[in-house]
Order: sequence, then C-alpha cells, then structure tokens
Amino acid sequence: MPALIVGNWKMNGLGEDIAEIAAMAGSGARSVWIAPPFTLVDRAVIVSAGAVKIGGQDCHAKDKGAHTGCVSAAMLADLGATFVIVGHSERRRDNGEGDADVRAKVTAGRSAGLEVILCIGETREQRDAGDTNAVLTAQLAGSLPDEAEGLIIAYEPVWAIGTGLVPTLDDVAAAHAHIRGRLVARYGAAGHGIRILYGGSVTPANAADLLGVADVGGVLVGGASLTAQSLLAIAAAAP
Ligand code: PEP
Repeated sequence: MPALIVGNWKMNGLGEDIAEIAAMAGSGARSVWIAPPFTLVDRAVIVSAGAVKIGGQDCHAKDKGAHTGCVSAAMLADLGATFVIVGHSERRRDNGEGDADVRAKVTAGRSAGLEVILCIGETREQRDAGDTNAVLTAQLAGSLPDEAEGLIIAYEPVWAIGTGLVPTLDDVAAAHAHIRGRLVARYGAAGHGIRILYGGSVTPANAADLLGVADVGGVLVGGASLTAQSLLAIAAAAP
C-alpha cells in the first residue's frame, strides 16, 4: 500500500492557488490528496481530473437544514469531493467540537460516500502528564463509527501542529501502535486494515524518517502542503 500524502490547506488559498493543485495533479505522483478551503473544492476537482483526490476540511453532521454557513458531507460529495477531514484539533479548539460531534460527522461523511480522516491527538499538557495513550483511547472510544470501512485515522499531536516540533520517531511508533491496538479491539481483523496517518510539522526534510516508522501509513500535512514543490517533495520521500 503506497503511503498516502494528504494536504490540509486550512484557511489558505485563492483562485490563483489552484495552479498548485494542477501542478500536483500533473506530476504523476500517486496517492496525493488535498483538502482546500470549501471555496476551492469545485475548481480543485476540475483541475485535478481525478489525479489528486479532493476533500473537505470539515462537514456538518446533518445533510441539510437551517445551519447558516455550514457545509454538509452530501454537498461535498455533490461537488466531486471524495473525502473529508473531521475532528481536526483546530476545529475542536475553535468550534468546541467534542468526540460525540466528531462521531456524528464521521457518520455523515460515510453516509455521503466519502472516505473520512478522523483526527485525534494529545495536547502538550496531556503528554507531559503521561496521559497520551489515555487521551487517544478516549477520543477513539467517543468518535469511532460502527463500521471500519472508509475510515482513516490521523494521529496529530496538538503541540506538533504548525509549531515545527515533532515527536521522536519512537514516540510516533508508540502512539501508532497504541491506536492500532484500539482499532483491532474495536473492529477485530478489520482494524488491521485501517490506515493511520501521522500529522504535525511534516516537511520535506523529516518526511522520509516519519514515513519509515512502523504503521505510519502516510502523513497529514498543513503548512508544507501549500505548494506543489513542497508537497511533491514529501511524496517523493515516501518509501
Ligand atoms: C495539520 O493541519 O493537520 C497539520 C499537521 O499542520 P502542519 O503540517 O502545518 O503542522
């Protein structure tokens, strides 16, 4: 299974930046996915022509209704998006989303036929208190859907996102092993088939090391995903 390289553009990108997605799509790189802001999803789907999968950074838990400013998973799918990220720590922090909210979004995404990247991770305080595994266990218990199909987990230590700080490779391996154990406990054999991504300050310089860690099935990349040059350098580092 080739490593999956997922770019999360967050609240970045105007029409002119579609050229970066076109360049990624034209590169021939395999297994590159991009989640641009909602405003660029339709244009990104067109320029990527299937060579790069396009997804949303969030979705509402409901299909439609009186939720001003929100976008549903069905709307993303309608535009040609094929995946959605849910539970990103910036959404948990900025929008007060808890595990039950995240679980509802996972279910909505799957119902709309999207693959779902479910983000979990501990804060610096939780890590320093020795609570990393307990936090990951609780987040998974509260947000995993009934079925393993179409599910991807992203392990993103909150303190590593956008900071330039990265856990040691041993710590990444330990967290992924713990997550794998919880997935197998929950889904049985199907839990072995769920891809687990690492996210947090991934760059072209550290990607090869991180992608070489046991059970790291790919990376979720923020800042370094904004240009084709940078993201393709990360993709090229995949073993
Ligand atoms: C992210 O937004 O999920 C992320 C990992 O960001 P960065 O790569 O900038 O740390």
